[in-house]
Amino acid sequence: MADVYRNYVAGQWVECKTKKTFPNVNPANTNETVGLFQASGPDDIQEACEAAAKAQPAWAALPAPLRGEFLYKAAEIMESRLQKLSEEMTREEGKTLPEARGEVKRAVNILRYFGGEGPRQFSYQIPSERENVFCYTLRKPLGVVALITPWNFPSAIPAWKMAPALVAGNTVVIKPASLAPLSAYRIVEALHEAGIAAGVLNYVTGSGGWAGNALVEHPVIRAVSFTGSCEVGNALYEKATKRRVRLQLEMGGKNPTIVLKDADLDYAAAILVNGAFFSTGQKCTACSRAIIERSIYEPLVEKLTAKTKKLKVGNGLEPGVEIGPAVDANQLETDLKYIEIAKQEGAQLLCGGNRLTGGIYDLGYFVEPTIFAGVTAEMRIAQEEVFGPVLALMVANDFEDALRLANCARFGLSASIVSRDLTHVHQFINRIEAGLITVNLPTAGVEYQLPFGGTKESSFGMREQGLAALDFYTETRTVYMKYTQ
Ligand code: NAP
Repeated sequence: MADVYRNYVAGQWVECKTKKTFPNVNPANTNETVGLFQASGPDDIQEACEAAAKAQPAWAALPAPLRGEFLYKAAEIMESRLQKLSEEMTREEGKTLPEARGEVKRAVNILRYFGGEGPRQFSYQIPSERENVFCYTLRKPLGVVALITPWNFPSAIPAWKMAPALVAGNTVVIKPASLAPLSAYRIVEALHEAGIAAGVLNYVTGSGGWAGNALVEHPVIRAVSFTGSCEVGNALYEKATKRRVRLQLEMGGKNPTIVLKDADLDYAAAILVNGAFFSTGQKCTACSRAIIERSIYEPLVEKLTAKTKKLKVGNGLEPGVEIGPAVDANQLETDLKYIEIAKQEGAQLLCGGNRLTGGIYDLGYFVEPTIFAGVTAEMRIAQEEVFGPVLALMVANDFEDALRLANCARFGLSASIVSRDLTHVHQFINRIEAGLITVNLPTAGVEYQLPFGGTKESSFGMREQGLAALDFYTETRTVYMKYTQ
C-alpha cells in the first residue's frame, strides 16, 4: 500500500476536504505508486490562503536575517537526506539518479543562497536635492503569494520560488504539479522541521483546474509565480491581470543551438546530445533545434547520430542509464505525435522515432532519442514545443542565415552557439532573441545565483532566481526624511 501524503496548512499535516486522493505513479515502472496525494479543492485553498494571510504580519515583522535562518536549517535537513530525496525524485519524475541528485543539491544551494539574502536585502540611499533631507528605499514583502510549479524540476523550481518569497517576508501557498508533488513536499517538510511558524508556508496538492484556479482567484493573493505550459500561463494572465495581481510566468521554449564551421565537431556533438536528450528533453531549456553551417553539416550529423544511438535509455535508478522515460502517457503520446507530424511534413528521420517496448520498457513510457534532418523554419517541428527527446536539424548557409533561423520561433527562452569566432559570438549575444544565452555550452544548465527567464512568448514579468528574484517578491518604498525643522 502506497504512503499517503497530506497537505500542509496552518502548520498541520491535514487531509483535504474532498477526502479523495490521487496517485503519483513512477513513469519508469507504472506498477509502482510512489505515493497518494490529496485531491484538494477550493475549500482547501480557502483554508490555506486564510492561514497564510493570518501568519503574514508576524512573519514580515521577524527580522529578515532570522527568516533566513529557517532556510539554512531546511537546507541542512535536506542535505542530510540527499540520497533518499534523489531516489524519490527519480521514481516520481523519471530523470536519472545523477540528474535527480544534482537537482536536490541545487535546491539545497538555493535555500542557502536565499538564506544569505536575509542579512542583505539591499536597498539604497541616495542624495536629495534639498538640504538636510535624507532619502532611501526600503523593500517590503507583497503579502501572500501563490506558487504554481511544473513536474520537470520538481524540487529546484519550488525551491527557487519559495526561498526568495519567504526570505522577503511573504507567506506562501504552493500548489505543485500533480505528476511530481513529492519533491516539493520534502522541501516543505524540511522547513516545517526547521521550525517555520504555522501558516507561513502552506502546501496544497490537487488538480490545476480546481486547486490552481481557486488559488489564483483568491482575494488575499498578491502575486502569482507560475512555471508551466503557455496554455495555462496565458489563462492565468487573463485572471491575474484583471485583479492587478503581480504575475511572473515562465513557460515554453524551442531553444536553438547554432554550430558554426569553426567548431570542434566532437565537442559540438556532445553539447547537442546533452542539450537535446538529457532529462529526456523535458527541460524548458532543452535544445530542440540544431542549426548547423552547411560546410560542417554532414560530418557533424554523422557524429551526432552515432552518439545518440549509443545513449542508454531505461529506468533512471539503474546505473549507466542516461535517458529516463517520458513523464506520463500524455507526454509520451505528445512525443510520438510530433514524430509523426515531422515525418508527414517531410523531415527525414535519422535515428529513433519509436516507443521502446519489450522487457522493462513495457512497464514505462520510454521513447527513443530521435533526430530529424531537413527541417525547415515553417515546419511545426521547428516551431512548436515537443518537450521530449526530439531534435530538429536545420542547415544554415552562413552565420546570418543561422541567426535568422534561430530567431524565427515565437519562443525565446534559451539559445546557444558553438564557435571560437569571437566576432560571431558577440554578434550572436547581441542579436539572439533569448533570455538565457550560452556560448560553447548546452542551452540547458543554469545556475541559481543569476537571473533566469526568457523573452518573446516564453516568459512574462520579472526574472526568477539570483538577486532579481527579490525584486519580484518585494515592493519598493521610498523615504524622504528631513532631519531638521
Ligand atoms: P502545466 O500543465 O502548465 O502545469 C503547470 C502547473 O500548473 C501544474 O501545477 C498544474 O497543475 C497547474 N495548472 C494546470 N492548470 C491550471 C489552471 N487552470 N490554473 C492554475 N494552475 C493550473 O505544465 P507542465 O506540464 O507541468 O510543465 C511542462 C511545461 O512547463 C512545458 O511547457 C515547459 O516548457 C514549461 N516549463 C517552463 C520552465 C521555464 O522556466 N520557462 C521551466 C520548467 C517547465 P496539475 O499538475 O495538477 O495539472
